[in-house]
Amino acid sequence: MRPASPKEEIIPIVKERLFAEDVKLLYLFNTDWQDIRKIRSLSERIKCPKCSSSLIAMTYRNDEELIKIAKRRRVGRKLSKEKEKKWLTTWRSASLI
Ligand SMILES: [Zn+2]
Repeated sequence: MRPASPKEEIIPIVKERLFAEDVKLLYLFNTDWQDIRKIRSLSERIKCPKCSSSLIAMTYRNDEELIKIAKRRRVGRKLSKEKEKKWLTTWRSASLI
């Protein structure tokens, strides 16, 4: 289901829209960590302070939906088409941050 090269299409869009704003960081596998940061203060390599994984998603500061989607996903529950799409977009961009 993954496009051959998602890097070019997703990252510029995400960064352009979020630059200069606070962003919410969400650790995707365990959903054990969330944080709000200034995008300019992000270091080159972001890691979850709890388990050191680098699979971190970046989203809008006021995005309350992503954590819910991630948690449903983690316990294997079904997602609506719209949420599934958001999840996939997030997942692809997360692995590239
Ligand atoms: Zn973690």
